[in-house]
Amino acid sequence: MGLFKKEIPEQVTVCGLMLRCEICKNDLFWSRAAQMNTAVATFFSLDWVNPTADCFVCANCGYVHWFLPV
Ligand SMILES: [Zn+2]
Repeated sequence: MGLFKKEIPEQVTVCGLMLRCEICKNDLFWSRAAQMNTAVATFFSLDWVNPTADCFVCANCGYVHWFLPV
């Protein structure tokens, strides 16, 4: 995970709840905003909005939690 080495993972709140990793139950994440590519946007019928997803990468196991704009 060389991309994330310079950052300190943080706790993340989603909808007022503390985010915990689905896999290992860790509560520290690196955050990234990711531009959705066309294929993914089409899959979610979001071609018209060119969405940016919030990505939180578990600092322990690397599992990526994706959140689309709602
Ligand atoms: Zn994890």
